[in-house]
Amino acid sequence: SKGESVKVAVRVRPFNQREKDRSAKLIIRMEGPSTYIQNPETPNEEPKMFAFDYSYWSHDGYEDVDGVLEARTQKYATQRNVFDNLGQGVLDNAFEGYNCSLFAYGQTGSGKSFSMVGYGKNRGIVPITCDELFQAIQRATGNTKYEVTFSMLEIYNEQVRDLLTKDNPRGGLQVRQNPKLGLFYVEKLKKVAVGSYNEIERRMEEGTANRTVASTQMNATSSRAHTVVTITFDQIQKNEAGQETKKSSSINLVDLAGSERADSTGATGDRLKEGANINKSLSALGNVISALADLSMGKKKVLVPYRDSVLTKLLMSALGGNSKTIMIAALSPADINYDETLSTLRYADRAKKIKNKAVVNENPID
Ligand code: ADP
Ligand code: MG
Repeated sequence: SKGESVKVAVRVRPFNQREKDRSAKLIIRMEGPSTYIQNPETPNEEPKMFAFDYSYWSHDGYEDVDGVLEARTQKYATQRNVFDNLGQGVLDNAFEGYNCSLFAYGQTGSGKSFSMVGYGKNRGIVPITCDELFQAIQRATGNTKYEVTFSMLEIYNEQVRDLLTKDNPRGGLQVRQNPKLGLFYVEKLKKVAVGSYNEIERRMEEGTANRTVASTQMNATSSRAHTVVTITFDQIQKNEAGQETKKSSSINLVDLAGSERADSTGATGDRLKEGANINKSLSALGNVISALADLSMGKKKVLVPYRDSVLTKLLMSALGGNSKTIMIAALSPADINYDETLSTLRYADRAKKIKNKAVVNENPID
């Protein structure tokens, strides 16, 4: 089969306080699926154009009503709009028995967590998707049995920590390779059965509270770790002959660490080491994306360097494998972030070229 391209969305957020204080200028423009970026140093040059599956304008055209950001223009993309395109796709795939992955990329403070998890009443794609999953299960008629599990981990300094427990082993959990399937997994990672959206919500809160929060000059509260939530969704059905079959879908939701280079955060010492390791996983991800893009474009003898980092080992099937994959790239609107935003757009542009070959995971139960 030809494979299906990774779906890529970009989203631009409002100015933050720091940008307002510096009278930052808007350098992003969107029209339909196209996103334009203007180099602030060459204002007379044509802006660079990028085309994505979705370009979400969340910069202005909204109103804060009791903590809920509501659209006041057609153009403004709400959390619900983003869910309707991206999260609903994840859900539909899950019900069909495909693996799916959604990951958020961008510099610290660009809006990754806002889109993925959300803040306060503005729930992001992950909670809305989980909520809708259980609503769909409740609506279902017939005799299908549903089983949902939840796990949450972070990759920090190339070490894996289980976020559903307070006592992780020194040096983190081991990443091992399944000899039959070739896929990597995290040994001893806690995987809990969940029976309702509220249970998932509680687990997410628990996991978030266990996250490593190291401050950098750039954003004091932002995690410098990659956070991976995995939901498995099994549908068990009995046919006329009484034979049970199981359709399984594994959903990976990945909030990546900030993509900025360590030097732009003013980090030194231990912080710099963290930055270097974060970049190790992210640059490995970049290399994997490039190699997969080359493969999709017909290049031969390309080695995809999945083994170069923990992140790429764990995302192996999500990228270029048996998974439907969506990436959301978060953009700052401001001229002062031009370099980082341009590199995010280029990263997203490469991801677009990857083709995955997702298959339905349906097997008889013996
Ligand atoms: P990141 O996870 O990339 O470091 P955050 O998601 O935490 O960034 O966003 C940084 C700040 O910008 C937060 O205060 C968040 O509420 C705000 N923000 C991000 N995206 C949006 C958006 N689309 N609309 C409104 N505010 C946003
Ligand atoms: Mg974040």
